[in-house]
Amino acid sequence: MILVTKPFLPPISEYKEYLEQIWDNEWLTNMGPLSKKLEHQLKDYLEVENLLFVTNGTVALQMAIKALDLKGEIITTPFSFVATISSIVWEGCTPVFVDIDQQSLNIDATKIEAAITQETTAILATHVYGNPCDVEAIDKIAKKHNLKVIYDAAHAFGVVVNGKSIFEYGDISTCSLHATKLYHSVEGGMVISNDENLFKKLNYIRNFGISGFDSFAELGLNGKNSEYHAAMGLVNLNHIKSISKKRQEICEYYDELLKDIELQKPVWHVSSKNNYAYYPVLFPSEDVLLKIVQILNENQIQTRRYFYPSLASSLPYLESQSFAITDGISKRILCLPLYYDLTLEDVKMICNLIIKVYNQ
Ligand SMILES: *Cc1c(COP(=O)(O)O)cnc(C)c1O
Repeated sequence: MILVTKPFLPPISEYKEYLEQIWDNEWLTNMGPLSKKLEHQLKDYLEVENLLFVTNGTVALQMAIKALDLKGEIITTPFSFVATISSIVWEGCTPVFVDIDQQSLNIDATKIEAAITQETTAILATHVYGNPCDVEAIDKIAKKHNLKVIYDAAHAFGVVVNGKSIFEYGDISTCSLHATKLYHSVEGGMVISNDENLFKKLNYIRNFGISGFDSFAELGLNGKNSEYHAAMGLVNLNHIKSISKKRQEICEYYDELLKDIELQKPVWHVSSKNNYAYYPVLFPSEDVLLKIVQILNENQIQTRRYFYPSLASSLPYLESQSFAITDGISKRILCLPLYYDLTLEDVKMICNLIIKVYNQ
């Protein structure tokens, strides 16, 4: 069976060394030495100033919305993972969807202003597949209308745009370090903010709002992560170069083998480089996609219709809405298998099956 994704597992001996440290430290969770070390190393690696290691990418989003004290309407994208939208609703706000751009598959910045009302307080945009949103346009609109900006950068680990980390954009950026992501700590997430006051607030929020032995500064939650998760993050960070290299090799091989068939791919931001978090392809029709999914399934190859269906038309707690571009794209897009252990022979087999459907 070829899975669509498979978590990277480092040599167990490397993880065991950290387990010994945890036993020596007798410190299991609550901002322990390994969590601090991981935050330090991530800040170095990503070149960001302020970063918190948190429970997961969903809690990171909820913390961001809470820290900015958002109310009312939040402009967002229907083409994302459900957590982007559920976090908005969970925090008592209303998601207002704006259709995506046909090329980048990110929120279409040119359509944002038309969706702004008296109630709008923020824009929450996802860098889909790690591909940067039009950050300049979004930040300009936000300034003009006095809105906050949160970027769901769950896919964007290691992405650089205009020479700096993607995580430096917006009032707050969040990331997921879930096992299925490019770089992971089993479960985990990050919040990043360049605003010192906001960062201080996020620090309190992560730890129940506690500010001293018997004082509270904020309404908080439990957004901490454990030393065991930090240990996995530390070990995996040592392998990030080879993980990235391997994924790039696989993606370039897909590109080469699929170059002669009618196939679209998201267009990457001109001032940025792919982090190879996913390998999404757009087939000419849903019909072709379904045939390909079927033949791949018959050959024990898993794929994922990521993202399908549109979040604007599928959530039981929201009224269903249709969006021309999102609905069209989500019916035609498929993420092909991509993970560290995937062999080039497997990639070849997958591509041959796809090409076979085209030649039928
Ligand atoms: C994975 C993901 C999340 C949620 O992250 P978790 O760590 O699984 O909670 C949020 N947004 C997007 C776009 C994601 O892909």
